Amino acid sequence: MVNTPLPKSRAAKPPAAVPLLRCFVDGAWVDTGKSFDNINPVNGQLISHVCEAGQDTVNAAISAANRAAQGSWKHSTVSERAAFLHCIADGIEQRFDDFVAAEVADTGRPVHQARTLDVARGIANFRTFADLIKTSSSDLFQSDGPDGAKIMSYVIRKPLGTIGIISPWNLPLLLLTWKVAPALAMGNCVIAKPSEETPSSATLLAEVIQAAGLPNGVFNLIHGFGPDSAGQFLSTSPHIDAITFTGESRTGSTIMKAAAEGVKEVSFELGGKNAAVVFADADFEAAIAGVMKSSFTNSGQVCLCSERVYVERPIFDRFVAALKSRTEQLRVDFPDAEGVDMGPLVSHAHRDKVLSYYKLARDEGATVVSGGGVPVFGDERDQGAYVQPTIITGLPDTARCVREEIFGPICHISPFDTEAEVIERVNDSAYGLAGCVWTTNLSRAHRVSSQFETGIVWVNTWFTRDLRTPFGGAKLSGLGREGGRYSLDFYSEISTICMKL
Ligand code: NAD
Repeated sequence: MVNTPLPKSRAAKPPAAVPLLRCFVDGAWVDTGKSFDNINPVNGQLISHVCEAGQDTVNAAISAANRAAQGSWKHSTVSERAAFLHCIADGIEQRFDDFVAAEVADTGRPVHQARTLDVARGIANFRTFADLIKTSSSDLFQSDGPDGAKIMSYVIRKPLGTIGIISPWNLPLLLLTWKVAPALAMGNCVIAKPSEETPSSATLLAEVIQAAGLPNGVFNLIHGFGPDSAGQFLSTSPHIDAITFTGESRTGSTIMKAAAEGVKEVSFELGGKNAAVVFADADFEAAIAGVMKSSFTNSGQVCLCSERVYVERPIFDRFVAALKSRTEQLRVDFPDAEGVDMGPLVSHAHRDKVLSYYKLARDEGATVVSGGGVPVFGDERDQGAYVQPTIITGLPDTARCVREEIFGPICHISPFDTEAEVIERVNDSAYGLAGCVWTTNLSRAHRVSSQFETGIVWVNTWFTRDLRTPFGGAKLSGLGREGGRYSLDFYSEISTICMKL
């Protein structure tokens, strides 16, 4: 299997043969003749070379998808597509360990996370949408016409055509399949562009899809960067019908400008600066455990992580002390180490960004309660992209570290006095992705959560997702909603048939 990445190894020796990850266009593997390096963030070693798609390869993928969109796939039945999706899910499951190795190699995340979250959710995304299209219904309205005739209006969903899917590096397989599965389920053809930082699991997915026997051109994979590369060539093409994108807000804005030209449908899942609010009546231990998770899962590289924590003043000092103690027990280690809690950041470039915020926090006058630097291991991890999990306090709400998305294992904790005050401070953000409320007061839970200007609010939990619920963000955090029937709506051309009986 040429495309299978080497599993991450602790051995200091470079791999003997470095694999080449190719693009997948019109049912064939394409060596574009130009490649970039894929680096392991644990130790800085080369994992693979990756073929970069230029304008010609992107055009070929778009043409293939457009041809396939007019071919047999357009007339495929719901049962046929559901069967394909189940076949893809089974294919991922059969190569579960390969997918885990790919995610771990590209991101350095703990193996247990790749097993229980990334790959498990990749499978679930295909199964969920396969089942959903078999049971989804549509609206039907009956009315009386002006002449007294009966009118029946009903709504049908048709494929949009060719969808460009551009995804980020933080949860590579999970976020890519979150879009590929419903797009295929609704009868579209796709061109998927994973992040340049995490090309491996997407390449495995293309292998699984090829083995599942989808018609040529229905699924295409192009590797590359954003500007002046595959991402830009795909998103600026006049020959695609919609773009779905997950990534930074400013990239979303660039893509939206390109999409405006052809008035294309867009769905954007963008950045966040999420808040967790802990009331004095919260179950203290549950809140500590929850904030640990929401601050440090995946080294803080989940768009839903809470980088702003507001704690009611009577429990503020106790909360900060307990969170510091738990943070200092976190095991920052190799992805396959027993009991590992946190791996490195995704890349050295991202580490530079996060460390610049650690420095900025000090410059802005923060008190560093825990962490704030780079761990020293005395082994190959010192060539990796590790940072310490970090807690800061003492910044005003106007500080850049409290307003800008850092996307690392850092949270700022601030005291508050009243419910109205904390709601105002939570909403005083350019972002509006997610929020958390920790309280045992049921009325307060409902009252407060409904006032957050975010796409989702968790009460006494975090990151729990029912895939049938709408997901997305307000303000700079996104546009539109995906999930369950909301995905079916986005990936369809919705048409009304109005009939006089
Ligand atoms: P990014 O915007 O830098 O890159 C995302 C993807 O867009 C990559 O595939 C990249 O190659 C491509 N890209 C970059 N510039 C482009 C351009 N000009 N035209 C077309 N494509 C372009 O984001 P990232 O650093 O990979 O991911 C981290 C960001 O994603 C964070 O801001 C995080 O909050 C956000 N995110 C949001 C959600 C959500 O559901 N709201 C989920 C995960 C991540």
